[in-house]
Amino acid sequence: MTAPADRWARRLADAAETRRAAGLWRRRLTLSPDDVWLDFAGNDYLGLARDPRLAEAQATGARRFGAGAGASHLVSGHLEVHEALERRLAALTGRPRALLFSTGYMANLGTLQALCDRETRVFQDRLNHASLLDGARLAGASSRRFHHRDLEDLACLLARSPDDAPSLVVSDGVFSMDGDVADIPGLTTTCRDHGAWLMIDDAHGLGVLGAHGDGCVGRAHGPDAVPVLVGTLGKALGTAGAFVAGSEALIEHLTQFARPYVYTTAQPPGVAAATLAALDLLEAEPERRTRLMAGITRFRREADALGLPLADSTTPIQPIVLGDSDRVMRWAAHLAQRGLMVGAIRAPTVPRGEARLRVTLSAAHTDTDLNVLLEALADCQHREVSP
Ligand SMILES: *Cc1c(COP(=O)(O)O)cnc(C)c1O
Repeated sequence: MTAPADRWARRLADAAETRRAAGLWRRRLTLSPDDVWLDFAGNDYLGLARDPRLAEAQATGARRFGAGAGASHLVSGHLEVHEALERRLAALTGRPRALLFSTGYMANLGTLQALCDRETRVFQDRLNHASLLDGARLAGASSRRFHHRDLEDLACLLARSPDDAPSLVVSDGVFSMDGDVADIPGLTTTCRDHGAWLMIDDAHGLGVLGAHGDGCVGRAHGPDAVPVLVGTLGKALGTAGAFVAGSEALIEHLTQFARPYVYTTAQPPGVAAATLAALDLLEAEPERRTRLMAGITRFRREADALGLPLADSTTPIQPIVLGDSDRVMRWAAHLAQRGLMVGAIRAPTVPRGEARLRVTLSAAHTDTDLNVLLEALADCQHREVSP
């Protein structure tokens, strides 16, 4: 008989071997602020993450309220600065209230777990973020997946579902690996027709899309149309954390029942203070969004002229779908040699055979940065023809 310790060693080694053999082994890169990488991989779309004004606000907040909140929100960790941030986020998205979570992953887990159980029906776009799928599992609810952005498929599934079961339709706002945007008006109508609630995770839309940087849902689609709205703070807003925005009743329900909300320490108050500063900049410097959009237009025009297999995206997420994961790794390695960081995305994050470079653009990129990227991509292409 094998000893239990050996069994565990074998189990870990087997999992590692399977992943390596599939060419899907992942590695972290340790970065220093002195590195001269050109970052086309992150989600800091407005260039706020390294803005010294945010760092300053964070330091001031930490001095005033402490480096940590010291407890969960329901015990003694809910500070004035969290309350002020929740009000600002509710106002930004045109909802009565908002509730802060420590991360977007936890916001999705907590919301789905608090809303759903074995009796509820959950309908998810096939390309939804992992945290949305995991949230339904935590709730013990089974998720039906509809074809990506396919309202007819969704309507069919809804029509087949029993009338007495509460239904929740869940979708990313901007799809994180594809960059395309959910059809919010279409989803709203379909949900209304079938008496379902709609939950949108606008992690990549908030700060970028919408007339006020209020995202693809925002004030244009109120809480009657989209009752459950999730936004994250670690992407365009440059800090960390997340929120759910909606009716008074929804927010109270989550406060009572969302276990990933109840049983965790509140966000560090400095982070909340930095996020308030980021919201000030979102309002005061709309030119960041203008610059970002101009960069997207230019990148698409020139990458298309090179014949690169661009995905159909108008957002800062601009995937180049190369298909084969070895090919993606070769391109990414070549870009890295030239000082360019670009996400190499493979299964299981995207379906097998759809591996891609996930280029992300930011208002912080200059024209020269884009020149360097486009030249390096042209070079990758050239090397494939004449290695
Ligand atoms: C990044 C992301 C999350 C998770 O947010 P974190 O704050 O990083 O945990 C959730 N949903 C989507 C669509 C995301 O892209």
